[in-house]
Amino acid sequence: MRAVIKDVLLEHMSWVDCRAALEETDLVIVPIGAVEQHGPHLPLGTDWMNAGYAAVKAAERFGVVVAPTIKVGVSQNHMDFPGTITLRPQTLIELIIDLCRSLAVHGFRRFILFNGHGGNNAAIDVAVINLRREFPKHIFGHAYAGRLKKAADFCLEDETKYHADEGETSRMLVTAPELVHMERAVHEIPKSKSGLYPFKGSDLSTQQVFFGLPRTKTCTQSGVFGNAQIATSEKGKIIHTAIIDGLCALIEKMKSVDIDDFDE
Ligand SMILES: [Zn+2]
Repeated sequence: MRAVIKDVLLEHMSWVDCRAALEETDLVIVPIGAVEQHGPHLPLGTDWMNAGYAAVKAAERFGVVVAPTIKVGVSQNHMDFPGTITLRPQTLIELIIDLCRSLAVHGFRRFILFNGHGGNNAAIDVAVINLRREFPKHIFGHAYAGRLKKAADFCLEDETKYHADEGETSRMLVTAPELVHMERAVHEIPKSKSGLYPFKGSDLSTQQVFFGLPRTKTCTQSGVFGNAQIATSEKGKIIHTAIIDGLCALIEKMKSVDIDDFDE
């Protein structure tokens, strides 16, 4: 299987390469990220870079295709910080639907929407609901990296796990170490004046009530939530491995479905 798909990135393939890939697989991973502030030490593209890295590693194990990464996402809460770009949720929903529609025309039928940014979760769920209505014989799985990485939480020392923190910085030390400025990394304990956002031991994947995302600049001056200074590439490798393993388990599960019989 790997012999045909040498390079899993769709945008590196010619159309004849893509036609050959489709004879091997109908599964495509669509990484989705953000371009938003990640403290003074990490690049704005942290979320799409980390998502793209894990997607390619998982795809290479199975010889499945990786679609062009949707780099920008829903990041309104970070707009006080220069360089942040935000889509309206509706724009992201339409972007995902158009991308999947195009790929479906060519024969892809199993889609993993692999999300690296919590602020995108609600929009992606709505996109999946709409896609399922339009393509009842296709499978769409929304996998959020923030959930997949739970299996690696044991390696993190800081109680605050939220954003531009120990874990995210550690992953970037693996994904693109040349873009990480550890000398600028800070330890900032975020505050929620209203008390609606308990950052300690809580993140988007564990919170009980969703109040939307807090306006970042009211909680932290630097944009860091927690201790970025104790990040290491060793921790980054453990977290990436947990995410990649989670993605691989999902690929296996989705590949095992008899798609012509799929009507749930
Ligand atoms: Zn992030």
